[in-house]
Amino acid sequence: MNALVYNDRGCSERFRLEPSSFKNLKCLLFKNPSILDGFGEKKIIRKCFACNKDKIVAVCEICVVRFEDDSGEIKTITLSNNESYDIQTAIYKLNSIIKDCMCL
Ligand SMILES: [Zn+2]
Repeated sequence: MNALVYNDRGCSERFRLEPSSFKNLKCLLFKNPSILDGFGEKKIIRKCFACNKDKIVAVCEICVVRFEDDSGEIKTITLSNNESYDIQTAIYKLNSIIKDCMCL
């Protein structure tokens, strides 16, 4: 399912959340997310935001994300594999003020 990370600047990015994670969290909107910790390193292929070329980037296999839920409560969730890669990319894009080409 699609979930959303967003911030106070009005920026948002979609990412994929497994139904099992949603069952635990009961939340699809992650406000002001940050990565608290990460374990393991994995190289994945992602499209560059700017020029759309495939690019190899390093991400954590497991990451711990802190965010605010709909009611403003601070929560943390540990995500792994595809969910982990996806939310890391989404948070990176969210926090990139200039959407630069990553290939430079
Ligand atoms: Zn590029």
